[in-house]
Amino acid sequence: KVSVMCDHAMLAIRTIKDSFRNRVAYYKTELRESFIGDHRIISEFESAINNGHFRPYVQPQIASNGCIRGGEVLVRWFHPTDGMIRPDQFIKILEQTGVISRLDRHMWELACIQLKRWDEMGLKKSYLSINISQKDFYLLDVYNVITGLIYKYNIDPARLHLEVTESAIMDDPTNHLQLIARLRKRGFIVEIDDFGSGYSSLNMLKDLDADVLKIDMGFLQKTTNPEKSTTILKMIIALAKSLNMQVITEGVEKLEQVEFLSRFGCDIYQGFYFAKPMPVE
Ligand code: C2E
Ligand code: CA
Ligand code: CA
Repeated sequence: KVSVMCDHAMLAIRTIKDSFRNRVAYYKTELRESFIGDHRIISEFESAINNGHFRPYVQPQIASNGCIRGGEVLVRWFHPTDGMIRPDQFIKILEQTGVISRLDRHMWELACIQLKRWDEMGLKKSYLSINISQKDFYLLDVYNVITGLIYKYNIDPARLHLEVTESAIMDDPTNHLQLIARLRKRGFIVEIDDFGSGYSSLNMLKDLDADVLKIDMGFLQKTTNPEKSTTILKMIIALAKSLNMQVITEGVEKLEQVEFLSRFGCDIYQGFYFAKPMPVE
């Protein structure tokens, strides 16, 4: 009985491990279920990756003139018994345990293989964006892994876009800004993902040289004051343009949004209004 209570207490503590404010945590049965779920993900991960159960979906990115410019690679786990699992079910736990870098490296390679295939089909213009997780900066030699891949598959680096979140950069600005500069110098296109969702946006922009600012409509819309968020969006786009950055807006769901975004000067759109993430075929 006592040992079960201790187990429960440990599970409850896990929920406030990263929080300085909470000093009390309560145990609920859901905690046990999510713990078991997390355990299952970790224990099945290695065989899933080796058996090709992680596959790339691609969500098109469309220019203002309606042409597809490229797309973002978004992982899907095809589980033999549970079917397709979305990233929000497993990315977080893979990040916590550091296994994410193994998955990311795998997805980056799949992206390169796909670009190579497109090359052979004569579709030399399309690019693919890959996601770099915050943990990757610590667990991988990002520069060597990525340059190694484009060398192995003989791909123009400009066709591999690298999505890095502002929080990942601000986690260790000195080193990460340097790395980004090296990658850009080598010819990669660097995109700042989920811009505006962190706390350091404007401060970061003054030190950062990136090619693309990627703004998510989603978190700008989670507000009681939509007019204000539209104004902010307009200003961010203007700011990015004056800093010589391209703008991608993601999470675009309605025609009305496309209309005002194009008035504001957005270059590229990604979202359900145009297309959901889909298998490469
Ligand atoms: P993200 O990088 O911000 O990717 C965009 C997410 O927004 C995708 O969710 C996409 O399906 C969703 N989305 C696209 N258009 C719309 C829209 O119009 N409305 C709404 N409501 N949502 C839209 P998804 O595929 O479930 O991926 C979730 C997150 O998981 C991604 O967010 C990314 O942070 C992470 N992720 C996905 N694949 C990878 C990967 O290979 N490596 C790493 N490190 N993270 C990944
Ligand atoms: Ca992304
Ligand atoms: Ca994003």
